[in-house]
Amino acid sequence: MYAKVVVDVPNVETDKPYDYRIPEDLRLFVEMGSRVSVPFGGRLIQGFVIAISEMTELDKVRDIESVLDLTPPLTDELVHLGSRLSEEYICRQYQVLQAMLPAALRSNYGKELSLTPTGREQILLDNQEQKVMSYLERGSVDFNQLCKQFPEQLPFIRHALKQGWVEAVQKIKNRITRKMISYIRCCLTPEEAEEALRTLVKKAEKQRLVLNYLLSLDHPVALREILSTLKVTYSTVKALEQKKWVEIEEVEERRDPYAGRSFVNAKPIAFTTEQKEVIDEIVVSLQVNQFTSYLLHGVTGSGKTEVYLESIAKCLDQDREAIVLVPEISLTPQMVERFKGRFGNQVAVLHSRLSHGERYDEWRMIREGKVKVVVGARSAVFAPFSQLGLIIIDEEHEGSYKQEESPRYHARDVAIARAKNHHAVTLFGSATPSLESYYQCSKGKMKLLRMQYRVANRPLPPVHVVDMREELREGNRTMFSRPLAEAIRDRLQNKEQMVIFLNRRGFSTFVMCRSCGNSLQCPHCDISLTYHRSNQTVRCHYCGFTEQVAEQCPSCGSTHIRYFGTGTQKVEEELSRHFPGIRVIRMDVDTTTQKGSHEKLLSEFRSGGGDVLLGTQMIAKGLDFPNVTLVGVIAADTILGMPDFRAAERTFQLLTQVGGRAGRHQLPGEVVIQTYNPEHYSIEFAKTHDYTGFFAMEAKHRFEKDYPPFYRLILFTFSSPNVPLIVKLADEWNRKLQILLPSSIYMLGPVASPIPRIKDRYRFQCMLKYRNEKQVLPIVKKMADAFSSRHKKDDILLTVDVDPQILM
Ligand code: ADP
Ligand code: ZN
Ligand code: ZN
Repeated sequence: MYAKVVVDVPNVETDKPYDYRIPEDLRLFVEMGSRVSVPFGGRLIQGFVIAISEMTELDKVRDIESVLDLTPPLTDELVHLGSRLSEEYICRQYQVLQAMLPAALRSNYGKELSLTPTGREQILLDNQEQKVMSYLERGSVDFNQLCKQFPEQLPFIRHALKQGWVEAVQKIKNRITRKMISYIRCCLTPEEAEEALRTLVKKAEKQRLVLNYLLSLDHPVALREILSTLKVTYSTVKALEQKKWVEIEEVEERRDPYAGRSFVNAKPIAFTTEQKEVIDEIVVSLQVNQFTSYLLHGVTGSGKTEVYLESIAKCLDQDREAIVLVPEISLTPQMVERFKGRFGNQVAVLHSRLSHGERYDEWRMIREGKVKVVVGARSAVFAPFSQLGLIIIDEEHEGSYKQEESPRYHARDVAIARAKNHHAVTLFGSATPSLESYYQCSKGKMKLLRMQYRVANRPLPPVHVVDMREELREGNRTMFSRPLAEAIRDRLQNKEQMVIFLNRRGFSTFVMCRSCGNSLQCPHCDISLTYHRSNQTVRCHYCGFTEQVAEQCPSCGSTHIRYFGTGTQKVEEELSRHFPGIRVIRMDVDTTTQKGSHEKLLSEFRSGGGDVLLGTQMIAKGLDFPNVTLVGVIAADTILGMPDFRAAERTFQLLTQVGGRAGRHQLPGEVVIQTYNPEHYSIEFAKTHDYTGFFAMEAKHRFEKDYPPFYRLILFTFSSPNVPLIVKLADEWNRKLQILLPSSIYMLGPVASPIPRIKDRYRFQCMLKYRNEKQVLPIVKKMADAFSSRHKKDDILLTVDVDPQILM
């Protein structure tokens, strides 16, 4: 038997499967989707088995050295998907397969086997088999060690794994994967115990205490409970163990990141007419078992999440599984609660704030079929389910669904590919769908579902746009326009809450010299440094360069240094200055670095611990606070000025989303947007909540300029410390591609990137625009491969981004 293996060598020439022989003793364990260790060059490296065959065309093949998984972590479907994605996104197959796994599985520290409760109950085993099981009964055993111990019993071990009598768990660096808790059990009969207590010397007071405690409870007690309740030390327990009066057992505790929280079981609600229509439509598609993709365009507060929940319930009824993707930042406990409340422990949750161990545990539940629903951020789209029925992407317009490092996949495309494999349904939802998806509907490739009204006919909040130029002209130099200031005062008086939104941390807080106009730049990245008031430093958000604030301009020596723009800290200070006594809860990257701090701030706000929730993107979506009646946007212009063809779309989306936070409950809401560009169409349409109007206008611009969704883009970025080399190679690249590709396809550039230098590497980019012509990707892939192998020795890097979301 032979295996085709894609190996972990970061080199384009090696990005094809290699044949290896599967040695006799591994035959039972090597399957499609297994990770294996194979000899390559002079060393052992990791690889994925992507096919198994009975023959090879090669004369000489080497043996697989060992297998890293006892059950393959990847399903056949995911393996196939991997090769497809590597072509579509022009990246190595190994990288894609790796990206599908939790980080804990990206390294290899061996496997541990242990008995499961069903394993303990097995009695119909022969002698040899019994020996294996008894060996495992003593505790978990390293897989290789077990194989050495029982070389004849490999088939049985395999069988036991398949039957679920034994489970294999990946070890993680520096600690075991599973969290073990020590339990203390008394192993004396009541008579023996009495005897023991009598023989204990007088001064062994503590040991007596422990023993009595155990006897009084009559069940094993966690070690930590004993230590804390009885105020004894570990040596006391150890002494009892040495006398063989107690035993210390290690018991696995599943690391449940939501442990200790109770989820109210959600009651079914009466759906609105719109919800009912949408659900009925989805249910029919689920029942006919045919791939269908839907775009649910529902205004904020129209009850989309309830539609998701009901569709999932219907999907589970069919014994199929569901994946729900939400943007990382909206994976708040509030959101998770709605899914856990409805589906209880059938739900696994995956997000980046989990530790490697926690993520691995959740993933294992999915792979082992112990959960049916996954709620997670982007990478959860790879959840290794085998009976998928439904993939939901909430806030489908969000840029974070695109991975910004290789493999640069978009979760929407992966979802569609997977749904096709499973004859499943995809449901993308948003109040502000991406132009790409909405356009798919007009072409009939996706079905459009609409929910135009908020639940209970609550009105969408009125939006006031304030022209900040006017404010300035009339002498208002503060960051709060008069209408916003008035609205804030009003809310304070009525004891209602507000959300004040500021775009992106630090993006607009730069330091400028008023004498020479020079702004402080990062010495490595050609980007303005941002000012952090708390420790009087300026910092670069690309490379981390940090410096004390200068008192003198580095260019002209003037002392008229000024801090321009507004960061969240600045707004917080100004709020306190203008509205004495106002309680502000600030949420930005600086206040939420610690695990759990995000949630803490939100629940503080929810319980009325603040008048204002002040923050960046983070607070724009997903949040639902009954008492919020005002949403203020300090400056709508910050995104508009970005060098990106999606600037208008992003502005419209953001304004609509933040506006959606107001008036979702009984109290009516209001939105105030401050801007220097009040006549810009993205702001005008946001003001009237007019998505279709916005779409028509934006589509017109995109069409005229050959941008998506009418054209597709591939962005090539070259980076090197050597400018002449980049210019030369990028230019060559452009000309060659132009020759190889049909003339309908055109290339732009090379030009310096919007951020021309990062970490002392200069950056140039070229852009390819095409209309999805089939031959483009293979040609580009070939060229990129050739480029990388030709310039292995030069310090130049080419990144290829298919369907880029960020053009910097
Ligand atoms: P969206 O995801 O579209 O913003 P949600 O699903 O979060 O909307 O619904 C907004 C609010 O309305 C939530 O508090 C939700 O519990 C409530 N809700 C949704 N559907 C109904 C319904 N049919 N009846 C009563 N309340 C509902
Ligand atoms: Zn100066
Ligand atoms: Zn920098």
